[in-house]
Amino acid sequence: MKKLTIEDKVGLTKFKVDTGKPHIKIKPEICKNCAEKYCVTICPVENYKVDENGNVIFAFEGCFECGTCRIVCDKCGLEWDYPLGGYGVCFREG
Ligand code: SF4
Ligand code: SF4
Repeated sequence: MKKLTIEDKVGLTKFKVDTGKPHIKIKPEICKNCAEKYCVTICPVENYKVDENGNVIFAFEGCFECGTCRIVCDKCGLEWDYPLGGYGVCFREG
């Protein structure tokens, strides 16, 4: 059996995005003043970005629901929950 690379595994994912209710919300005013911004470097799918004015821009689409940003954020700058049932990341097999 072929061992899957990370690219193979990422290629097996698909997303059903809940456009009505983001499962992660940041608090932009807290994030702008956050010195560490760990989320920006730690998110495996680069959902967090910083614009030219120092604002943190977050897009929840494509989130792997790994929970890493929830763990590293110690500034209460985000609300984190799983997507509603039937939404979010899922894996294609076969
Ligand atoms: S989500 Fe948390 S770690 Fe990321 S910029 Fe906002 S306060 Fe900082
Ligand atoms: S849960 Fe994981 S993939 Fe989703 S935004 Fe946070 S770090 Fe990125």
